[in-house]
Amino acid sequence: MLNFTVGPVMSNEEVLAIGGEQVPYFRTQEFSNIMLENEALMKEFLNASQEAKAVFITGSGTASMEAVVMNVFTSDDKLLVIDGGSFGHRFTQICDIHKILYTAIKLQQGHTVTAEMLQEYEGKGYTGLLVNIHETSTGVHYDSQMLGDFCKRNNMLFVIDAISSFLADMLDMQAVNADVIITGSQKVLACAPGISIIVLGEKALKRVHENETITMYLDLKDALKNAERGQTPFTPAVGILRQINARLRQIKRDGGAASEIAKIKAQAEDFRSKIKDLPFEIVSESMSNALTPLHPTTASAYDIFLELKDNYGIWICPNGGDMKETIFRVGHFGAQTTEDNDTLITAFKDLQAKGII
Ligand SMILES: *Cc1c(COP(=O)(O)O)cnc(C)c1O
Repeated sequence: MLNFTVGPVMSNEEVLAIGGEQVPYFRTQEFSNIMLENEALMKEFLNASQEAKAVFITGSGTASMEAVVMNVFTSDDKLLVIDGGSFGHRFTQICDIHKILYTAIKLQQGHTVTAEMLQEYEGKGYTGLLVNIHETSTGVHYDSQMLGDFCKRNNMLFVIDAISSFLADMLDMQAVNADVIITGSQKVLACAPGISIIVLGEKALKRVHENETITMYLDLKDALKNAERGQTPFTPAVGILRQINARLRQIKRDGGAASEIAKIKAQAEDFRSKIKDLPFEIVSESMSNALTPLHPTTASAYDIFLELKDNYGIWICPNGGDMKETIFRVGHFGAQTTEDNDTLITAFKDLQAKGII
């Protein structure tokens, strides 16, 4: 299987080997040391402040999105949510469920949010902004510095879901004034799905400690208290946390976040340079290095996904909803190489020769 989806993606040998090992008991100093190292490396790779804390939630990315909304905000808040696709829309659904007031900035498919669009929200008493910095459903990558400056000017908490962008695009938590950054195990970390990570800066931590506890499993006060000694309140996905440790250490060994980002950027640029003669249009105003969203001009996007999966053993990423027939996505992260790009391009050309695209 050659997997170009947006997660779960292909893991490297070291991570795969851990998946095949027995899962150890975790209330030990050995496991605490792994968790403390995971926290330190997450903070390092995001350039988080010294006071920032990282917690590891057993649950996919959405669990951490919901945990952040539940623990950082209350019904006294008034949020702005960038709704540029299905992940942005998810934040509005979470706010609805938890009765947090918000205004959604709805974007046209494939379009970014601009400073001009934000002007009407200046000085209007908003207390926080929620954004999926790379809206994975459409492949649009927003400007974190511009959004961070807006939040700083308006004294708003800045929450970034960087689940598919962490380690694919530059993200400096302090430089962009982010208060919360969320990511997950199955995207660029390229481990098994099941763990999501929340990094909280000082202002967000203060909120968590002041707010009333309204959830047991996703209570960040409890998670933070346990994290001080490298532990979690409940049994975590121990095996995945060990995989994450191996990945974070590898990345550190290979030069840190910047070199991982450069690797994914090169993988994306290689793919984009090779599709020029194919009947595909890129459908995003500003792309992440993580993936390329493509509109096939001569065939159904979903049919191409099925053809590649069933006849070539290659998985690209289909889209859902009203983009199902018009857009597919090609991810550039996980244990893939430029030779893998060549294999995919050859398959596309074969589909072309057969008259399928
Ligand atoms: C993958 C992803 C998520 C999380 O989805 P889960 O299925 O809950 O892991 C959230 N936001 C973005 C931007 C994503 O790419």
